[in-house]
Amino acid sequence: MGLVKSVDRKEITRGIELERALKAQLNMISSRSYFPKYKVEEILYRDFAYSLYRIKNRFTVPEGLVKFTPSSASKCKRELFYKAIRAKQDEQQNYPYNNRWTRNATAVHGAVQRDLLYSPHLLENPSFTLQSIEKEQFGRLPAWEKNIEDYKVITHNGVTFVVSGMMDGILKYEKDGSTVGFEFKTKSSDNQQVHHMRKAKAEHIQQCTAYSILFGIDEFILTYECVPKDKWVAGASAYEDIKTFYVKVTERQRTSLLNKFAEVAAMVETGELPDKQTSKCLFCPYKTICLQSTSTEVSTKSSTEPSTRGV
Ligand code: SF4
Repeated sequence: MGLVKSVDRKEITRGIELERALKAQLNMISSRSYFPKYKVEEILYRDFAYSLYRIKNRFTVPEGLVKFTPSSASKCKRELFYKAIRAKQDEQQNYPYNNRWTRNATAVHGAVQRDLLYSPHLLENPSFTLQSIEKEQFGRLPAWEKNIEDYKVITHNGVTFVVSGMMDGILKYEKDGSTVGFEFKTKSSDNQQVHHMRKAKAEHIQQCTAYSILFGIDEFILTYECVPKDKWVAGASAYEDIKTFYVKVTERQRTSLLNKFAEVAAMVETGELPDKQTSKCLFCPYKTICLQSTSTEVSTKSSTEPSTRGV
């Protein structure tokens, strides 16, 4: 018991250290104003060229297997099932402001990744630097997004499936050279959302668990930024707009998520419908078919075309 407690304490201390270090780094970068630097912009230029290349050369995963992605890790099992069999989704009505909401959040994503890439060129000794990956004719590119997109074929509990995806960034903690996953989330409803956060959201921790399975990383920092800010004149008393939360993924969390994926993949094969999880219905695009469903078995004929069965 004593050993467990001291291990926990060590983990908490490290978590606080990493959270503070990344938040301080992001704040230091944001307190600077600077001209673009050739070295960094040249990397971003090649990164963009690779993105263009990827539009015409799409990433593929092995066919014939149910596919799960990290962002779907926390979804209702029945929703994962419907996605896997390519069930008809509800019509979604997005208003123009909804799409601008998404567009703005995406732009902030790009901006914070750029800040991380600029860190060693603007700060004396940044705590974190972005790792890089060799991409043939594009040279070394930042370890983020499509540059690190990958898949893993996994057999768990006798069922084979694919976990596939990419993440916001893979960092190096300069103090000890350890690898830390960077996951960035925006909040856009009001300017106090992040200020009031006390911990990372459970679904985002599950997403990190899936990354851990896919990329073999145990430590993550979930960073939240509020897109709407406090009043310009609020100064030092402004609501906090950035928070960082350390996540250490455990073997138990990985096994639990693999159990879930294996269960859904097995049910896709048998056609047995998973139970409802009504606490997760709000953003589910399968409400209509789910409501109409009276049987616990459905036809999964279309699931024999798995290359497009991504979840
Ligand atoms: S509507 Fe609710 S219960 Fe049905 S699949 Fe979606 S999340 Fe699950």
